[in-house]
Amino acid sequence: VVPAARLKPADQPSVRRNNLAVVLRELHEHGPTSRAAIATVTGLNKATVSSLVGELIDRGLARDVGTENQRRLGRPATLVELDGRSVVALGLELNVDFIAALATDLAGRPLFQRSRAVDAAGAPRQRVLKTLISLARQALGAVDGRTVVGISIGVPGLVDVDARSVTFAPNLRWHDVDVGDVLSTALGIDVPVSVDNDANLGALAEYRVGQYLGRRNLVYITGQTGIGGGIIVEGRLLRGSMGFSGEVGHMRMSEDGPPCGCGRRGCWEALVGLKPLLRRTLPHCAEALLADHSTGPEAKVAVVVEHAIAGDPVTLAGLSEHGHWLGVGLATLVNLFNPDVIVLGGFFRELAPWIVPVADETLRLEAIAPGAGGCVLAPSTLGFSASALGGAIHAAERVFDDPSGVPYLVAS
Ligand SMILES: [Zn+2]
Repeated sequence: VVPAARLKPADQPSVRRNNLAVVLRELHEHGPTSRAAIATVTGLNKATVSSLVGELIDRGLARDVGTENQRRLGRPATLVELDGRSVVALGLELNVDFIAALATDLAGRPLFQRSRAVDAAGAPRQRVLKTLISLARQALGAVDGRTVVGISIGVPGLVDVDARSVTFAPNLRWHDVDVGDVLSTALGIDVPVSVDNDANLGALAEYRVGQYLGRRNLVYITGQTGIGGGIIVEGRLLRGSMGFSGEVGHMRMSEDGPPCGCGRRGCWEALVGLKPLLRRTLPHCAEALLADHSTGPEAKVAVVVEHAIAGDPVTLAGLSEHGHWLGVGLATLVNLFNPDVIVLGGFFRELAPWIVPVADETLRLEAIAPGAGGCVLAPSTLGFSASALGGAIHAAERVFDDPSGVPYLVAS
């Protein structure tokens, strides 16, 4: 796990809350560890650390786990580690053709995971929101008895994070929808609910727990109906002045290209999104697959994979063309951000054996920097659930920022 902005211990008694957070992050990043080691690392004195660890244990956020096994003289130290089994962070993803929920405990252990196929672009908005609420209720029901510390929802579009609303989601055809308020009111529980761009949450998940965790310049690309980008620069998510950055799917690749969900033509996602993928690789059945809203994107992409494995020449040629257009757009991102790694999420991961080599070759030819500036192109290890997982990670952040919000396990 990669540290977020590191908190510094402070010495006023009023900032015990801050020190509690310092110790909890230490356990998260380096545990199991001894109280003495925490004192050394944080600069807090041993008595303070013991007291803080005691409070974390009482809140169910830490636990003792036996003694240090070291060849050292003197009494062996008791080790303490992150607990948080009583805590739940819920990540939700509302996408064009599916809704997903993923709940974890504080240590990231999965507690609940489910997704449902929806036609979020075609169905009335109220019905889509009802499905989202129903899935959130299911998740909360499955973790009943634990403390829910936060809910974060990923949505494919421009999100006003402060207002918890979707400003514009072209592929959902949504303008100014208060998703956060609607969910919060419907659930009727006193839990912070936040809304964010799906690619931003995917990037957060990759940065924290993906295969390339900790790469400080990382670009995450969603592979869904739309194509979004989550861009981490020097260890921080790039949001831009209004939070609308990362709309890489609407980079214009040609003046008279295919129409895009945003109303323009020739956008990158109109060339490398799910629709052009199916049309290129499965021309005989793409329209039927696209019209079938009973299955999510994974099932549709599985048909492409079947044809590719069987060596269908049309499918293979289509995948090659798809990989080419993917590489053309990625080269622009490499020119702009010089990332260490570009992680390809969603369906790109399933199709990686056929798409990535072509995309990589194109990227290396088209990017101005020699060797694409050292950029590695890699499929996600988190797949379609990356954004929901990022939502859970984001929701859990509240506890790492302020553990005192979590109630004591037993009233004393
Ligand atoms: Zn567009």
